[in-house]
Amino acid sequence: NQAKQARTVLDRYTPDLEEKMAWRLGLIRQLRQDFELNKLEVWYQPQFSLSSNKVIGCEALLRWPSGNGDYISPGIFVPLAEDAGLIVDIGQWVLEQACKLQQQFTERGLDLSVAVNVSVPQFKVSNYAELVKETILNHGVEPNKIELEVTESVVMDEINTVIETLTELKSFGVEVAIDDFGTGFSSLSYLQQLPLARLKIDRAFVKDIPDTDSGAIAELVISLGRHLGLKTIAEGVETQAQAKILKDLGCDEVQGFLLAKPMPKKELLEFLAQNT
Ligand code: C2E
Ligand code: MG
Ligand code: MG
Ligand code: MG
Repeated sequence: NQAKQARTVLDRYTPDLEEKMAWRLGLIRQLRQDFELNKLEVWYQPQFSLSSNKVIGCEALLRWPSGNGDYISPGIFVPLAEDAGLIVDIGQWVLEQACKLQQQFTERGLDLSVAVNVSVPQFKVSNYAELVKETILNHGVEPNKIELEVTESVVMDEINTVIETLTELKSFGVEVAIDDFGTGFSSLSYLQQLPLARLKIDRAFVKDIPDTDSGAIAELVISLGRHLGLKTIAEGVETQAQAKILKDLGCDEVQGFLLAKPMPKKELLEFLAQNT
């Protein structure tokens, strides 16, 4: 049996795996280079209030042009950037872009917030809270117009440090949302310890509404949010039926292709000029 186990391990270490590792390394090298050459982009997806149907803000989403007109998905390269430690610098750059956009909103008289995704390695930077505060101050942005989106994996990584960091940022004014809520299967006890503003209902719990019982989880999250005094925002809303059901369930906000896809900054500003 041991021999069989050893065989399985050996079998797994095939040229395939080597190829995969080489591919990953190549991608990381290319990503580092493109970041340094300022080739990464930040796109923005509007978020809407379900009661007023108005835009309330947007989420900053990284885009990596592949060179042939396509984009490599952040679902692929963000995990690589996390492993390679690159996400610390890239994430800081995204925050700066978000602050610049927020500044432009204010110049245009738009009262909108910008949400930024934050990864585990960013919280490991010793002065992360200071760095965020400084960045916001340097851009002359109102702290409560910047929201940080953290996943349960971020929260559970080093819960005490994360609570401390987020509490400091909250007292400065920054808003905090839990992203992909419900997909992390973590203990819910952290919810009461974190200074949260919002729960983001993952697309997984939205996509099959109204065809299956997956609406039950969306309903649960919305009711949990209400009891904890948190807003709820559903992501990945693609149909009118989903929006209506979410609204009836008491969900506050939505983000999804039904209303607007992620778009470059220039397009976003045009979109807002027509939709606010
Ligand atoms: P996320 O933070 O959960 O972002 C929402 C994702 O859902 C985005 O994918 C968005 O384009 C997509 N989405 C929104 N509405 C719909 C819809 O109606 N239908 C469908 N099918 N998808 C929708 P995207 O842009 O590919 O980003 C994937 C993930 O990459 C993000 O998930 C986030 O975890 C990560 N990511 C993106 N930008 C950053 C960043 O600047 N920093 C970090 N750390 N992670 C990032
Ligand atoms: Mg997000
Ligand atoms: Mg999400
Ligand atoms: Mg996600």
